[in-house]
Amino acid sequence: MRQTPVALPLEPEYRTKAIIIMSGKHQKIPVGISSCLLGEHVRYDGGHTYDSLINTRLADIFEFRPRCPEVAIGLSVPRDPIQLVRTDQGIRVRGVHDPVLDVTRQLEDYGRQVADEQVDICGYIFKARSPSCGIAGVATWTEQGDEASLDGAGAYAAALMNAYPGLPVTDEDYLQNPAQCEHFIAEVTAWFHRHQDRPD
Ligand code: SF4
Repeated sequence: MRQTPVALPLEPEYRTKAIIIMSGKHQKIPVGISSCLLGEHVRYDGGHTYDSLINTRLADIFEFRPRCPEVAIGLSVPRDPIQLVRTDQGIRVRGVHDPVLDVTRQLEDYGRQVADEQVDICGYIFKARSPSCGIAGVATWTEQGDEASLDGAGAYAAALMNAYPGLPVTDEDYLQNPAQCEHFIAEVTAWFHRHQDRPD
């Protein structure tokens, strides 16, 4: 069940640090995000997972770069759901109702492509528990259809994180914790300054 967002003590200190003033204008820090968290109707069932904390307070300080990897690789909306399956060939992303459907390679390729294209992003907010976007703790299943463990990572998120080592990442569940939210904002801000200050 989704948690109710708690009041976020987004101290003025963090807002000030996170909004970069450049040429007299406020510039928000670019951050990648799973599209469904912004309310885009891209989920397998045609729905979304709008997150109020992300769309209010964090939208004030970040410039979001939304991506839905499942739509980007050509899956339709709505579509059959996919899941992580533990196989002899490693963990694969397969259709829940159609195990012949295997989109592992496409999702991994797209993760690397986004890492190549979005070189200026300073962080990424992923959708928790997704077989494409989850950063950790995603359910994996046996080929017989039994839940095997809760230690998987989404294929898109894993490929992007591997291609972009050290990039600050989080998901909407972690962000409900005020301390973790502040930590993410501080990490993103530090990443921004490090890469702004880096000589070409
Ligand atoms: Fe698309 Fe990722 Fe959201 Fe799934 S979790 S709908 S793949 S953005």
